[in-house]
Amino acid sequence: MMYPNKLYINGEWTTTEEKIDVINPATKEVIGQIPKAGAKEAALAADAAAAAFKTWSKRTAQERSAILMRWHQLIENHKDGLAEIMTTEQGKPFAEAKGEVQYGNDYIAWFAEEGKRVYGETIPAHHTHKRITVKKQPVGVVAAITPWNFPAAMITRKVAPALAAGCTIVLKPSEETPFTAFRLVELAEEAGVPKGVINVVTGDAAAIGDTWQKDGRIRKLTFTGSTAVGKHLMRGAADTVKKLSLELGGHAPFIVTENADLDAAVNGVIASKFVNAGQTCICTNRVYVQESIADAFVEKFAAKAAELTVGNGLEEGTQVGPLINDKAVEKVKAQIADAKSKGAKVVVGGQAITTKNGFFMEPTIITNVTDDMNCMFEETFGPLAPVATFKTVEEAVERANNSPYGLAAYVFTENIKEATFVSEELEYGIVGVNDASPSAAQAPFGGFKESGLGREGSHYGIEDYLEVKYISMGL
Ligand code: ADP
Repeated sequence: MMYPNKLYINGEWTTTEEKIDVINPATKEVIGQIPKAGAKEAALAADAAAAAFKTWSKRTAQERSAILMRWHQLIENHKDGLAEIMTTEQGKPFAEAKGEVQYGNDYIAWFAEEGKRVYGETIPAHHTHKRITVKKQPVGVVAAITPWNFPAAMITRKVAPALAAGCTIVLKPSEETPFTAFRLVELAEEAGVPKGVINVVTGDAAAIGDTWQKDGRIRKLTFTGSTAVGKHLMRGAADTVKKLSLELGGHAPFIVTENADLDAAVNGVIASKFVNAGQTCICTNRVYVQESIADAFVEKFAAKAAELTVGNGLEEGTQVGPLINDKAVEKVKAQIADAKSKGAKVVVGGQAITTKNGFFMEPTIITNVTDDMNCMFEETFGPLAPVATFKTVEEAVERANNSPYGLAAYVFTENIKEATFVSEELEYGIVGVNDASPSAAQAPFGGFKESGLGREGSHYGIEDYLEVKYISMGL
C-alpha cells in the first residue's frame, strides 16, 4: 500500500530531509516514513492559516458547509481504504477502524449543519436610544494536536467545527498514526478546501507545539492527549491567552449494582474495556460490583473475555488488536505485577503474548482488588479490567469520584432511583446509564476536573470556535 506521507502547508505537499519511521504495531514492521518537521515548518503553516483566515472567514456558512459535505461524501466513498490505513498504523480491528471512519465522518456532517446555525441575539437595551446586538464570529487560526488512539475521529472532531465556524487550522497529528491524517487531508483538498485553510505538520512535537504556542495569531489551541502534555500546553497558552479545549486522560469507573441486568452489564463492560484494546480515554478503567452479585458477574465476564480473539486487525475474526507500542505493553504488565503484589488474583489473561510479532497483550481480568493498587488510580490504556466490590451504592459513588479525572463513568442498574442518584452524583462529564458506548457527534464530549476543558461535538462543540461580540449602537 502507498501511504500519503507529506506535509501539507498552504496547499503544497512538501517534505523534509529528516524522516520518522512509522511502525505497524501488529507486526513491528516499518510501513513508511513521514517528514520530521520543526519550528520552521510550523511557522510556515501558521503563516498560511493566518493568510487563509482573511478569506475563509468571509465565506458564507452555506459555502463552507457545502465544502464540508463534499469532504464527508469523499470520506464515505473511501471508507475501506481509510480503515485499512488506520488498522495498519494503529492496530485496531478493521471493522472497528471502519466504525471510527464512520463516527469521525458524523462530526463533519454535524458541523456542516451547525455552521449554518451560528445565531446571534438582540437584547432589550437600557436606553431608548441604544440597541444591543450580539454576534458570533470565528476565533481565528486554530492549532490542533491529536493522539494516535483515534487517528481519524480526533481530527474530524476538531477540523470540522473549526472550518464550519470560519476558522482555519494548523494540525499536528500523532507521529504514530500520521497516514490516516494525510489521507483525510488529501480528500479535503479534493473536496475543495482552499489552500491554507487546513495545514498538516508532523515531526518534533515539542518544537512544533512551542512555535504555535508563542504565535499570537493562533487564537485557539485544541488538544486531545495525555494530561501531562495538556497541562504543559495550558501553561504555554497563558502567554498569548489562547482559548483552550483540552480532552485529556480519564479513569472511568464502571459500577454494577445488584439491580443490574447482569448480561447487559457484562456486554457493556466487554465493549467498554476491550474496544481499541483498552486504549480510549473513556474506556472502563475500574469495575465496581456490588458484593451480592460479584461472583456471578465475574463468572460471566471472565467467560466472555476468555473468548476474545486477539490478533492482527486485518485478519478476519480479530476482536482485539495490539497495543500501540512496547511502552504500552510494559505499563499494563507493571500494573498487573503491582496488583498481584498487593493481593490481586488473575482470573483471565495476565500476560503479554510473545508468540506473535506485535505488541499484544491478553485481555485480563483481576479480582481481590483494592483501591491502593496502581491500576485503580493510574490510567491503564490497555486491556486490564480490575474488579473491586462494594457494599452500598453511596460507597461506590464515593470511590468512583475519588479521582483527579472526570471524563466518563458508567452505571448499570434497572432501578430508576439508583440510576438517577448515581448519574447525578458522579463527577464526570459523560455518564453512561446502561450504556457503555455513549459517544456520538450530536452529544457533548468532554471532562470534569483534570480530564479537560470544553466540549466536542453537539451544538456546544462549535461554541469553542466562536467569539461573542457585543455591539452597542447609539441612535
Ligand atoms: P499519548 O499518550 O496519547 O501519545 P501524548 O499527550 O503524548 O499522549 O500525545 C498526544 C499528542 O501530543 C501527540 O500528537 C503528541 O505528538 C503531542 N505532544 C507530545 N508532547 C508534546 C509537546 N511537548 N508539545 C506539543 N505536543 C506534544
